[in-house]
Amino acid sequence: MQLLRSSRWSRAIDHLLCAAAMALALAGVPAAAQAPDLMQRIAALEHDGDSRPRQAADTLAGLETATDAFSAERLELLAVRGLLLAMASEPEAAEKVAQVLDDWARTRGSADAAAAALLVRARALAQRGNLQKADALVTEALTRLPAGAAPLHRLRFLRAQGKIKDDAGRIEDAARVLHEALALADQIGAPWLRAEVRTDLAYVFYEAKQLDRAKSLNAEALEIAGNAQDYTALSRAHNTQGILLDGSGDRDGERREMQAAIADARRAGAKSDEALYMANLADFYLKSGEYKTALQLSEQVLPLVRELKDVGGETVALANIGLAHISLKNTAVGQRFVDQAIAIDEGRGSVTGVSSLLEELGQALEKTGDAPGAVAAFHRHRRLADEILQRDQQKAIVELQERFDAERRAKDLALLNRESEIKGEQLRRRDLQQRLWWLLAATFVLSLAVLLLLYRRVRRSNRALESSNHQLLVQSERDPLTGLANRRHFQAAMKQLAADGKLAGTVFLVDIDHFKRINDTHGHSAGDGVLTEIARRLRETLREQDLIVRWGGEEFLVIVRTLAPEQVEALARRMLGAMGHAPVVHEGRSIAVTGSIGYATFPIEPTLLAVSWERAINLVDTAMYLAKAHGRNRAYGVRLLQARDESQLDAITRSLETAWREGQVTLTLLEGSAVEEQAA
Ligand code: GH3
Ligand code: MG
Ligand code: MG
Repeated sequence: MQLLRSSRWSRAIDHLLCAAAMALALAGVPAAAQAPDLMQRIAALEHDGDSRPRQAADTLAGLETATDAFSAERLELLAVRGLLLAMASEPEAAEKVAQVLDDWARTRGSADAAAAALLVRARALAQRGNLQKADALVTEALTRLPAGAAPLHRLRFLRAQGKIKDDAGRIEDAARVLHEALALADQIGAPWLRAEVRTDLAYVFYEAKQLDRAKSLNAEALEIAGNAQDYTALSRAHNTQGILLDGSGDRDGERREMQAAIADARRAGAKSDEALYMANLADFYLKSGEYKTALQLSEQVLPLVRELKDVGGETVALANIGLAHISLKNTAVGQRFVDQAIAIDEGRGSVTGVSSLLEELGQALEKTGDAPGAVAAFHRHRRLADEILQRDQQKAIVELQERFDAERRAKDLALLNRESEIKGEQLRRRDLQQRLWWLLAATFVLSLAVLLLLYRRVRRSNRALESSNHQLLVQSERDPLTGLANRRHFQAAMKQLAADGKLAGTVFLVDIDHFKRINDTHGHSAGDGVLTEIARRLRETLREQDLIVRWGGEEFLVIVRTLAPEQVEALARRMLGAMGHAPVVHEGRSIAVTGSIGYATFPIEPTLLAVSWERAINLVDTAMYLAKAHGRNRAYGVRLLQARDESQLDAITRSLETAWREGQVTLTLLEGSAVEEQAA
């Protein structure tokens, strides 16, 4: 069976590595046997895992408790274990390891762990055939790997990247990366690494059709592995050497190398590698027309791969047995074996495998002259090839769609983020606005309250001021001793009573007789007492609307609205009586008091001359003096006065008594009671 070269050889390489590791372990070679510290044990298991990834991964899992959390050893162990699980086609288990590394990277901010997680994922993707994504991931992993990473750790990344680029057909890139790996491997110095990287690079040069460089590199690998007696690396180098000789048409050399590869795999104890190399040798014989040898070899391989549960190997063995039989003209038998191989590949979903098998079947049948069989096989092959093409195209479209979706999602997310940012900004602004309004409202309410308070206070103080002003006014217009109005009040009152300056009403001037004597006899305070009492008695005699003023020391001025002459006389009498009818009692002492009154009614009859209040008082004062002069305790009222103008009035006032005698003035004379006599 004609297998795809690259997959066959890379598989062969993996198996060779396993054999070498086992050989090392058995032969007591330093790398595996001593394992003086954990790092060396991990490195040994990594080497071992190249051919037996699943087992090596399990052993590493058991070692995990021996490493400290977040230590360099733990990181190394996890990275290697993840890679091995990916190689063992255990993507879920590999992903779990990647997640542990992710958590580590997040919680510790470790770039090493982040890079290792990416490396594991890249390797798992490559194993599944998703080479584009794997390439992107491993490239990112390398950029994240800190510059100070250990050489062995960096080499791991470079080898993975080299393999992925090679599988993806990026041969030049693969060569560049593996060159870098080669320098690192030489720096580290471990023979298995130096040999393996050289073999890897040799295969890439073979693909790039640079056979000379490929050969010299692989020759170095053979020498290094040989000196180190590393049979895994040796068998692998021999296998690659076979490919290189096939490329230069050296059939004998190719067979020799393939046989050497089988022998070394056997020495390394790598049974599956041994089986695979045997299957490949059988394929070689098949192509060389040595059908019997091919059949023999394939029949040896079949039980081996079945024992190893190596399904891929079983398909190759069955196909080769079938093709050998067909070439040996045992067409029916051969067809059965080939059908078995096709059934297995179909069961595995390996359309590519089925397709290439059918192509080989067609070629074999054609060679034996079975034209109808060959045509049928080619038809099936063509259908499958078309199917593969369509599937690949669909896959490409799906990948494109996925990428487009991812980009759209990223854009949507960015839009959503922007939108939520704007919304957040709006909310913040609204909140601020609301706060501002609240602040304004609070300020307004507060200001209003303060204003109200101030207003009330002002009003209160205004009222207080008003009342104190009023009190002041009242006080300023009151006589403090008697409580009667004073001259000041009288003047204010006169402005109202005599609007035109002329007085209308009856004016009485009352004067206490011999008051000086009272003061002298009873003391000043007794005098005050007498003044107060007389003021009270006069006030009592008058009506509410009548005006009484303390005019001087012991003089009172009374003004009432115009009354009939009899009423005026009666009032004068009542006032005389009020003063004189009973003595004033002060501190147990009885003090006899009388008073004299002069009065007149304005305008003066009969001429009805209008008179200013000053002239009026002047006249009344003169009448009161007349009453004093004529014996006191009496009232003299001007009843009639013949004056047509003010100058005549002034002249009459000046000489009232004469004018009275001459008849120009008529006086009413009223005498008080006899008390005055007693007092005198
Ligand atoms: P007449 O009968 O002629 O009126 O004699 P009089 O003594 O009453 O008159 P005069 O004008 O000679 O004296 C008035 C006195 O009244 C003089 C003054 O000492 C006294 N006097 C004035 N005001 C007050 C006052 O408020 N209290 C007291 N105790 N005496 C006063
Ligand atoms: Mg007097
Ligand atoms: Mg007097």
